[in-house]
Amino acid sequence: MKNQSLQDQIALVTGASSGIGAAVAVALAKAGAKVGVNYARSSRGAEAVVSEITASGGKAIAIQADVSQEEQVIRMFEQLDQTYGTLDILVNNAGLQQDASMMDMTLEQWNKVISVNLTGQFLCSREAAKAFIRRGIVPERSCSAGKIICMSSVHEVIPWAGHCNYAASKGGVMLLMKSMAQELAPHKIRVNSIGPGAIKTPINQSAWETPAAEAELLKLIPYNRVGEPMDIGKVAVWLASDESEYVQGTTLFVDGGMTLYPGFATGG
Ligand code: NAD
Repeated sequence: MKNQSLQDQIALVTGASSGIGAAVAVALAKAGAKVGVNYARSSRGAEAVVSEITASGGKAIAIQADVSQEEQVIRMFEQLDQTYGTLDILVNNAGLQQDASMMDMTLEQWNKVISVNLTGQFLCSREAAKAFIRRGIVPERSCSAGKIICMSSVHEVIPWAGHCNYAASKGGVMLLMKSMAQELAPHKIRVNSIGPGAIKTPINQSAWETPAAEAELLKLIPYNRVGEPMDIGKVAVWLASDESEYVQGTTLFVDGGMTLYPGFATGG
């Protein structure tokens, strides 16, 4: 293992049994962190991520919790604390979509997406912030008392017809992140977001699984490549490390230029 910028730090990645969360968990472990690999229901994916990490000499455990359920979130933090000690890095990654035109969207679809994508990030961040402040800075590990990374989306700024619950949840994550960053900065807790563009994961499989769908998607991506989960993993390591110490309250878009209004590339 070459890059050990997170040596001996303890990380929790929510929704880490697939896609971006799995890649972030693997990347943090490669950088030296001990990782809690959270999953909501079936442990299979999370156990596979734990095996991948331990097979290459890293440390990880799978932890069940539905991030939208307060008692389960509290229990998850207690379990991680008992196994590895107090957390250094939280990656609020768990998220889902339940798409419908706004006129057909049920209250259940609205509530589900808001409760996982937004309330889940609040609940986990609250527990993490309390733990960071209780423990304080451990100078041998990091110059910050703790780091929170929120997985947002390009849809914190790009409206998305047919997905208003999802766009509202990510718009909410943006100001949740910034408000927490403002409030927690005096405690030397850093809070930032990653805003992925289109990354090949189960959440958006229909958008890239056929050549025709991928060609259509590429029209939105100036860099002309659909992202891979490890594109996000690498950025998460940097954002969690002291290399980014002075970065606070920012969304780092990792999107191949999707937020650059690609329709205007040819004059608009
Ligand atoms: P994914 O479906 O592979 O991952 C989402 C994970 O969240 C899954 O493992 C799922 O089991 C978990 N999850 C869902 N509900 C949960 C709950 N209540 N408690 C705990 N875990 C729960 O898709 P992904 O693309 O890897 O998504 C990860 C994050 O990245 C999400 O927040 C998503 O909004 C965001 N994102 C993805 C893309 C993309 O193009 N793939 C783009 C922008 C943002």
